[in-house]
Amino acid sequence: MSFSIFGLSDEIIRAVAERGYTNPTPIQLQAIPAVLAGGDLMAGAQTGTGKTAGFTLPILNRLSDKSIKGPSTGRPPIRALILVPTRELAAQVEESIRNYGKYLKLSSMIMIGGVSIRPQITRLKSRVDILVATPGRLLDHVQQKTLDLSHVEILVLDEADRMLDMGFIRDIKKILVLLPKQRQNLLFSATFSDEIRALAGSLLNQPAMIEVARPNATADNVTHVVHPVDRERKRDLLAHLIKQHHWSQVLVFTRTKHGANKLAEHLVASGIPSLAIHGNKSQSARTRALAEFKAGSLQVLVATDIAARGIDISELPHVVNFELPNVPEDYVHRIGRTGRAGAEGDAVSLVCVDERKLLTDIERLIKRDLSNKIIAGFEPDPRIRAEPIVNGSGGGPRRMLPGLPGRGQRRGQPAAKPRATRNLGGQAASRIPALHRSGGRGR
Ligand code: AMP
Repeated sequence: MSFSIFGLSDEIIRAVAERGYTNPTPIQLQAIPAVLAGGDLMAGAQTGTGKTAGFTLPILNRLSDKSIKGPSTGRPPIRALILVPTRELAAQVEESIRNYGKYLKLSSMIMIGGVSIRPQITRLKSRVDILVATPGRLLDHVQQKTLDLSHVEILVLDEADRMLDMGFIRDIKKILVLLPKQRQNLLFSATFSDEIRALAGSLLNQPAMIEVARPNATADNVTHVVHPVDRERKRDLLAHLIKQHHWSQVLVFTRTKHGANKLAEHLVASGIPSLAIHGNKSQSARTRALAEFKAGSLQVLVATDIAARGIDISELPHVVNFELPNVPEDYVHRIGRTGRAGAEGDAVSLVCVDERKLLTDIERLIKRDLSNKIIAGFEPDPRIRAEPIVNGSGGGPRRMLPGLPGRGQRRGQPAAKPRATRNLGGQAASRIPALHRSGGRGR
């Protein structure tokens, strides 16, 4: 089925064709007509499903449709606002808008923290049709009275569950009151927790409900292996594995920002080009590291879960869990970066005695036992006793699986009433792994 079925403008179809997409993904098949129809939407979809084009293509179409008019006098106002949790995601979404809208006369802007506010204020003085923003910086502009959102026709909350988990709910509420009451609302979320349902209930008007699963992250083309190793020898083992197997592009996950830094330094000292990305790194450092890694000039990218989430780095040959995640669902998300689209990939986990319980939880979640392989020269010392796992500054995990209350979650609030429930995508969204953590705000 091609993109021509949606009735999108020729300019958009042309830009999509240039991206090399031939068929819409399941989320696009459902979201594009729903958004074009003008109603509200609640969509269960994660990064990797094609959700960005799922909302940007119909938004671009609606905003460039001459029969749907904005105000005719004065400088054109901001007509679409896309709120996202992180700076990286903002950059990706805005880049998509520019790519898909390259043959249209629409103008987009990214508004994120971590960079000077001045150029953003200057940019706001010229035409902005679509604004992609993280909530914190947007509110900084509101405070400085440099932003007018009174003509927004379409609001998107992307990765809404993550925004709530990062503590943005109050910011979102402050932003909502600045928008016209009459508007189209689109909410994208990987999970439908009670908290998300409460937000949807207050935000959405008879939304279409769509759900799609992320491409199966525990697919057969991913080889999972656990290397039991002592906690203090993990770094040497990783350097050994990278060198021995000549791995050229490796994404390594650590639990903490500090751990990410230390590991990257160790690998560099071992002669392996590595950089760490996490919430404490400057925006330019993160962008540079990611670009080098994607381009293949950086061999190892060490990331915390929060830094990696939402970033479009996928189909990697090697993903390494230097430390197992505290939340088992994060394992699924981490290895979702490898072996996609038919490519082979491996998910390697370095597991010390402290992490046996985490490993059991992961195996239970993915319903399979992971094979163990001890590497010669790195045999675990049976005399070493387990120690409690020390978490990073983000605090411990808050499990917010469906049915379990999380921070700020209010029970008994009315859920959004679905206009139509379609489930063409397979797996129910409530079973899509919840991916919640704290820290790393997008401001
Ligand atoms: P997203 O889930 O929006 O982050 O998209 C994940 C990746 O899929 C991005 O690299 C997109 O460029 C790509 N993509 C989106 N739509 C399609 C499509 N219809 N066909 C092939 N690739 C796509």
